[in-house]
Amino acid sequence: MNDKIARVTSWRRALLGRLLPNGCALCGGDSDEALCGGCAAQFFGPAAAVARCPRCANPLPATENSGSALTFGHGPNSTPGSGPPFLHDLGSSLCGKCLAEPPAFDRTLVAADYVLPVDQLVLQLKFGHRLALAPLCARLLRDAVLSHPDYTLPALLCPVPLGPRRLAERGYNQALEIARPLARSMGVPLHARLAVRVHDTAAQSSVTPERRRQNIAGAFVVPDAALVAGRHIGVVDDVMTSGQTLNELAATLKRHGAACVSNLVFARTPPH
Ligand SMILES: [Zn+2]
Ligand SMILES: [Zn+2]
Repeated sequence: MNDKIARVTSWRRALLGRLLPNGCALCGGDSDEALCGGCAAQFFGPAAAVARCPRCANPLPATENSGSALTFGHGPNSTPGSGPPFLHDLGSSLCGKCLAEPPAFDRTLVAADYVLPVDQLVLQLKFGHRLALAPLCARLLRDAVLSHPDYTLPALLCPVPLGPRRLAERGYNQALEIARPLARSMGVPLHARLAVRVHDTAAQSSVTPERRRQNIAGAFVVPDAALVAGRHIGVVDDVMTSGQTLNELAATLKRHGAACVSNLVFARTPPH
């Protein structure tokens, strides 16, 4: 019974939080910030941090955590944001999947796992038209990125583009909505149409895992290769699940000469 009352109270607070601009976006409690201190610490603070594969951001088993010194920067003579990545010792900290089949991207940084209740932020942003949550996602993602001192910021950010039909249906690209404040707060230029999706594909979530690579193949083009050539490109997205979309985009950017590609993604779906 107490559980039921607690649930109803929490729903009421969450509902109030949606109506009142100052409520915490996760628990609905009183907060001057978009996220209350308790939720920030519980879901995004150092206590919530997990050791992840630097390349795909999947959690690493405890035995793979020992080499925590990560390892993605630039050589001593290279200019930040350009030139080939300096990937020393990265191999020792990669997950088995990335070792067996290296993806086209070089690095992935995320703010959280895509699980309850954090997924609600994305679902409300994406399907509930709560665009005001984008700056919150961007701030949490920026904090996660800056918590990796080894990581060299990209020269240019680009959002994962939506296809024309999905963009028309939704009216905005949630990845771009996150990328804008993220770019501003990190001082990195953003190019909204660095990559373009040339045809609409079925939502990756609606396709079986075996068909996801095929579903997304050839979906992207880079209209101006000169913007990409020799540079470190940061790709921004809201959620990473199988990683096939990000892999296809990174492969496209590399075909156009990108020196390295890192994914800056708000939330990562954990492996089953
Ligand atoms: Zn809260
Ligand atoms: Zn990995």
